[in-house]
Amino acid sequence: MAESYRNHIGGRWVDARAGGRQQSLDPATGEVVAEVARSEPADVADAVAAAKAAFEHWRRHPAPKRGEILYRAAEAMARRKEDLARLMTREMGKVIAEARGDVQEGIDLTYFMAGEGRRLAGQTVPAESPDKFAMSVREPVGVVAAITPWNFPMAIPTWKLMPALVGGNTVVFKPASDTPALACELVRILEEAGLPPGVLNLVTGPGATVGDALVQHPDVTLVSFTGSTEAGRAVAVKCADGLKRVSLELGGKNAITVMDDADLDLAVEGILWSAYGTSGQRCTACSRVIVQRGVEQALSARLSARINALRVGNGLDPATDVGPVINRRALEKIDEYVQIGRAEGAELLTGGAPAAVEGLAAGNFYAPTLFGGVRATMRIAQEEIFGPVLSMIAVDDLDEAVRVNNGTAYGLSSAIYTRDVNRAFRAMRELSTGIVYINAGTIGAEIQLPFGGTRGTGNGHREAGTAALDVYTEWKACYVDFSGRLQRAQIDR
Ligand code: NAP
Repeated sequence: MAESYRNHIGGRWVDARAGGRQQSLDPATGEVVAEVARSEPADVADAVAAAKAAFEHWRRHPAPKRGEILYRAAEAMARRKEDLARLMTREMGKVIAEARGDVQEGIDLTYFMAGEGRRLAGQTVPAESPDKFAMSVREPVGVVAAITPWNFPMAIPTWKLMPALVGGNTVVFKPASDTPALACELVRILEEAGLPPGVLNLVTGPGATVGDALVQHPDVTLVSFTGSTEAGRAVAVKCADGLKRVSLELGGKNAITVMDDADLDLAVEGILWSAYGTSGQRCTACSRVIVQRGVEQALSARLSARINALRVGNGLDPATDVGPVINRRALEKIDEYVQIGRAEGAELLTGGAPAAVEGLAAGNFYAPTLFGGVRATMRIAQEEIFGPVLSMIAVDDLDEAVRVNNGTAYGLSSAIYTRDVNRAFRAMRELSTGIVYINAGTIGAEIQLPFGGTRGTGNGHREAGTAALDVYTEWKACYVDFSGRLQRAQIDR
């Protein structure tokens, strides 16, 4: 039976003012998973007003106490991990083992930020004048708009909500329309953990209207957006108009380089996991393999054999390796890119069409696909496809591999397989992405380090780790002069 949810505004679960509703569908079966509010700008205005009203109290609430609420939320998430993971698989399709990982990432991040309640460290530094004290403290920025995508429906919201909340901000959360149920469950968990009314508000509804109204609302101080480059750019322009802070985490075109000295079996495992996990719908998904010519044939043969053995199906079936893609539109876009690749002259080695799964005629399944003979300038090697499509590009040496790796508009994650420590360290220095892996695939970030990308992947901010606190707090420098006389910095020497 479909779950039913409402908006959460000022501590109450409420319908959209105009009464609108929208559905969230299971991409494997086409069944309705949940019904939620289809909000409008008036609901956004209510949510922002509630967040603004709650801010004065919440920012003064001691940070360790804010952290304790997060700690209780993490405990609840851990207790409910299996339910949340199953809801996730039903709502967006990723296989159940990966859904558990997504929830676990949310739990890890929530514990981590709970601990930050007792740190939130600033600096004390020596003052240049005698009898003077100098320090910096972190201050909340105000009302935060958190706008999230559907592909990590638990991890990404926690990346935004937890540092924002522990930092003393209040939040209006607008989740993706494909995964609103999970967002409602997360808000419920935080409410039950003891968040005061108005501190966290939720509005569901279309990005083009609800998301846009949130971005443009004058009382929103910071917009934290994860999603497509196209939408992110539009958000940034609107934030510039309002002189708002904006943190963007956008697309990727990530590559794994395989050198001729690599452990090929290990590389094959890493490539399969990175390219076809979550059906290729991760921002860090590997969509290019850059292979040194000496091992091109061997790698391509091993990869094709393993890809052909992948089982496509409903993510709730533990035997499934590759679940559905998120919706019909995504399926069509992926297929269009496959046709573009063929027209560009790439060699289709396997896959290349929607997949039929017995008993799931309404599902959005696409066969894991591999192209060989791809040139680095082809569109399939440059543009984000966001599906289970992988392109192999042959190169002569590490220098060329680095050039190809760095030669796209994006800079999120890159990986290299080599047994040569010198090559590994050179690659670590030269690969111009926010995340680099040695002898591991492009996915698998841990929450205690910064997450984010260079170039078109974002605007220089990072999620997770203590780096996230730099997005959700601002520095205040405080000087205490206890000399009892006028002291002039830089002048009295
Ligand atoms: P999307 O279509 O850009 O949507 C992301 C979020 O923005 C959704 O909540 C969406 O609402 C909302 N939105 C859309 N248009 C908006 C607008 N004009 N103003 C305000 N909000 C708007 O992206 P997606 O398809 O959900 O996610 C896939 C993309 O996210 C990929 O490009 C992927 O690489 C990227 N991603 C990046 C990272 C990272 O950390 N770098 C992580 C994960 C995903 P609706 O759902 O209602 O349209």
